[in-house]
Amino acid sequence: MSPHTGFFGDTLALRVPQGGIYLLTFELWQAMAFRAGALGCVGLGVGRFIYVGSAQRCLAQRVERHFRRRKRLRWHIDYLTHLQSPRKVAVWALAKESECVCALTLLARWGPGVVHFGSSDCNCASHLIGPVGEEWLEVVSEIVGAPAAVVDSHE
Ligand SMILES: [Zn+2]
Repeated sequence: MSPHTGFFGDTLALRVPQGGIYLLTFELWQAMAFRAGALGCVGLGVGRFIYVGSAQRCLAQRVERHFRRRKRLRWHIDYLTHLQSPRKVAVWALAKESECVCALTLLARWGPGVVHFGSSDCNCASHLIGPVGEEWLEVVSEIVGAPAAVVDSHE
């Protein structure tokens, strides 16, 4: 995919590091249910949900992918972003281990999360947590530091 054809044009690559971890926020005004591949049916209530991910290469392309509705549905998160676009993305230029630190931080406060969602290859209960409070970014930043960028899809 050309970096110039994405949701954010060519500006996103200038704003996010080449690799790192990221949080996607989703604002749900009504409850939804969807099938997430082998995980089966997932139900989400009203509120703000956060997905925690990592892309140690081509982070900007990964973020763009999450904003595209049309794609091959490969990861659990694809089944959600296919139906509902993220609202915000916060990125950190951190190694993959910090991905689970973020997930565990959010789970400790707003667990239990959607069991096994996005956490097939780690020991976390989930990488999709919510509803979370307004202070989600402060809570995570306190543990892993300030984000390199926060991209708002409404800007
Ligand atoms: Zn994890």
